[in-house]
Amino acid sequence: MKTSRRHFLLMSVSVGSSLVLSRTAFAADANTLSESDPQALGYKEDASKVDKAKYPQYAADQKCGTCSLFQGKATDAYGGCTLFGDKQVAARGWCSSYTNM
Ligand code: SF4
Repeated sequence: MKTSRRHFLLMSVSVGSSLVLSRTAFAADANTLSESDPQALGYKEDASKVDKAKYPQYAADQKCGTCSLFQGKATDAYGGCTLFGDKQVAARGWCSSYTNM
């Protein structure tokens, strides 16, 4: 009986943790700036994929994580941007409003 109860408790904790993690992941996706957003200013989640012909001002060392408008910490994978309200941008992303002043 003890083993069964222990097993039930472990399973409950495991399922509960999975639900919390999947809800967190979904919330992060829903709150991430989309590359296809018409207001995204050429945003790319991966700066290395920026169309260099369309955005000649792009330089290889530019990314959201080093942009003055990035609101996250240097170690964050995603963070806010003063241009995009509550949307998160990738630290390795880039848009045409990049600035580092
Ligand atoms: S303004 Fe800066 S931080 Fe915001 S999306 Fe563009 S490059 Fe990234």
